[in-house]
Amino acid sequence: MLLLYYQEMQKLVQKIQMVDLKGQYKKIKSEVDSAIQNVIDTAAFINGPEVKFFTTELEEYLGVKHVIPCANGTDALQIAMMALGLKPGDEVITADFTYVATAEVIALLGLKPVLVDVHPDTFDIDVRAIEKAITPKTKAIVPVHLFGQCADMEQLMAFAARHKLFVIEDVAQAIGADYTFSDGRKKKAGTIGTIGCTSFFPSKNLGCYGDGGALYTNDENLAKICRMVANHGQSVQYVHDSIGINSRLDSIQAAVLRIKLRHLDEYAAARNKAAQFYDRAFAGNQKIKIPARVKHSNHVFHQYTLQLKGVDRVRLREQLSAKEIPVMIYYPIPLHMQKAYADARYKKGDFPVTENLCSSVLSLPMHTELDTETLSYITDSVLELL
Ligand SMILES: *Cc1c(COP(=O)(O)O)cnc(C)c1O
Repeated sequence: MLLLYYQEMQKLVQKIQMVDLKGQYKKIKSEVDSAIQNVIDTAAFINGPEVKFFTTELEEYLGVKHVIPCANGTDALQIAMMALGLKPGDEVITADFTYVATAEVIALLGLKPVLVDVHPDTFDIDVRAIEKAITPKTKAIVPVHLFGQCADMEQLMAFAARHKLFVIEDVAQAIGADYTFSDGRKKKAGTIGTIGCTSFFPSKNLGCYGDGGALYTNDENLAKICRMVANHGQSVQYVHDSIGINSRLDSIQAAVLRIKLRHLDEYAAARNKAAQFYDRAFAGNQKIKIPARVKHSNHVFHQYTLQLKGVDRVRLREQLSAKEIPVMIYYPIPLHMQKAYADARYKKGDFPVTENLCSSVLSLPMHTELDTETLSYITDSVLELL
């Protein structure tokens, strides 16, 4: 009896993953398989009709005039900065607490990354910190809607307008999130700033089966330049007006994304349901701070990230791992403490919120296929081990 129970538990726990792409695929398998087969049958692998259809459908979903598909989210950020005509030496302000791609592209283009701290409750860029970091060389701000909830765009846009700065939204983790302005107007994340940049990396909220990305903007001229930059700086075939890059979304990926886009809101609801389960289980626990919710944005839970207080995180992670529960630390090292981004301007202690988050955050499994049994097993295990 006990052995049987143990075997059952093993079966259950072995299934737990940070992101369950297989389980999600099973539910849309027939649609996806035939869409992929269709691209193969027509051999329209590059810039085929699927890419055009997906682009239009995403424009409609987001309520934005132009979507420019590209090869990945990092390229999207690079294309945006090139298209905006940012020049070496220009300063670009972004959050110290983010995935490296954001700062990487700034540095790669010879621009100067100016890092600022984030808000301790929301993990998003702190607008007051931006105000302190601005100089006459500042040209753009890159807010990152980290873990699936929008940064405070209303304040940020007002500040950017006063100082004539571009706003490049990194919406790689928050596609589909709704931003609500104080007058009640709503806009999709990534459609508020000058331009939005997203990623369709498989584990993102709208993920394809390989690499993919896109830019969104309401500015027709900027959209035209982005398309040109993404296509070797070409204006007319074999006429190159600027130095560009080669960054395309494959037709097969577009075909997969068309299907998954139809499920995106349902996927966000499934993620929210899991988040609510976690919230309820951890409510009132002194050692756990659950993710804050804000008035200005809903949450699409790319990650469900706890802040631990007085807990040996390394030990907890090992103990959870022994119970086959994967957890992740997004992100363990602040950008200003990374070797690649070390700069005489920065030292340990400069961004206390980020430094504290890097040593206390823990992300739990979060995806569209989490059932109550699995969630209970995860929360019971975490609470028992604290
Ligand atoms: C994933 C991610 C990116 C990069 O996207 P890729 O498609 O992997 O290049 C950029 N910024 C953030 C915040 C991300 O999470």
